[in-house]
Amino acid sequence: MVDRYSRQVLFRGIGEEGQRRLGKSCVVIIGCGALGTIIATSLVRAGVGKVRIIDRDFIEYHNLQRQLLFDEDDIRNQLPKAIAAERHLKKVNSSVEVEGIVADVNYTNIERFIRDADIILDGLDNFETRFLINDVSLKHKIPWVYGGAISSSGMTMNIIPGETPCFRCISYTVPYPQVVLTCDTAGVISPAPFIIGSLESVEAMKIVVGAEEINRELIIIDVWKGTFHHFKIRPNENCPTCQGKYEFLDGKFGIRTTSLCGQNAVQVLNPKGGELSFKELAARLKVVGKVTYNEFMLHFTIDSQEMVIFHDGRAIVKNTTDESLARGLYAKYIGI
Ligand SMILES: [Zn+2]
Repeated sequence: MVDRYSRQVLFRGIGEEGQRRLGKSCVVIIGCGALGTIIATSLVRAGVGKVRIIDRDFIEYHNLQRQLLFDEDDIRNQLPKAIAAERHLKKVNSSVEVEGIVADVNYTNIERFIRDADIILDGLDNFETRFLINDVSLKHKIPWVYGGAISSSGMTMNIIPGETPCFRCISYTVPYPQVVLTCDTAGVISPAPFIIGSLESVEAMKIVVGAEEINRELIIIDVWKGTFHHFKIRPNENCPTCQGKYEFLDGKFGIRTTSLCGQNAVQVLNPKGGELSFKELAARLKVVGKVTYNEFMLHFTIDSQEMVIFHDGRAIVKNTTDESLARGLYAKYIGI
């Protein structure tokens, strides 16, 4: 395997010892859109030991403009992002253990996903889950790299427990949905997430190999304007997370229905927990509408309503942003 990594080992910041450390590391990537696919591609090619990718979504045509790992076959095969990513990445580097998990990361399951992580990387499109990552990061003393991109801009920062301010220090509360831009309202051009994803990847490498040059500032870029700025962030004395209060992890701010970023869709979580049998559900639903399913997802269409249902009972109700309508459809057809 020396040849595969020879150019990286030659780089003085990595060297043989750095490569060894990379090879032993476990990296957890939460969210596999534009950022996640860039981060996963870089780190799997760089030869980390293990990559776990968790994503709740499936692939659509409007993703292909910027989500580098996916192609039209993945859409035809109706693959969830985590599964498609796992399959592509295993072809890129079979020596890396790649694990794709189709799940909605929330306070009930996040600790299970990060238990063996050396680092957590942010490939998300929503703030709630970032606060959750921030809580587990500080609680379990696992560094995480925050990153976000929208329109032509993006930002990133390393959160190293006990060393840097945390994510909640920067943004004390979850922003109101109206003031947060989404890929649906503001659009996004691929170089913005490509650069932020690349910065997240290199910070992950530095943290894993123990480099001194780790970034300790907030970086904000705009690829259209061609700007790149660093900002020093001070710890917030009133930050609950820094004081050991993990309010997101405690489920205090947990939500059961989510409008999905830029998709005109609502996600409904399974209130009961547990696994669904697609065979049984399909038998029940085909009486009232059109049903197709594969081993990962079940598609159900009735009149103008369309739902995608996963094994964990989670559903994505398409063509609506009305959360109560989505909850109603879920109750009616999936049952609670
Ligand atoms: Zn803090």
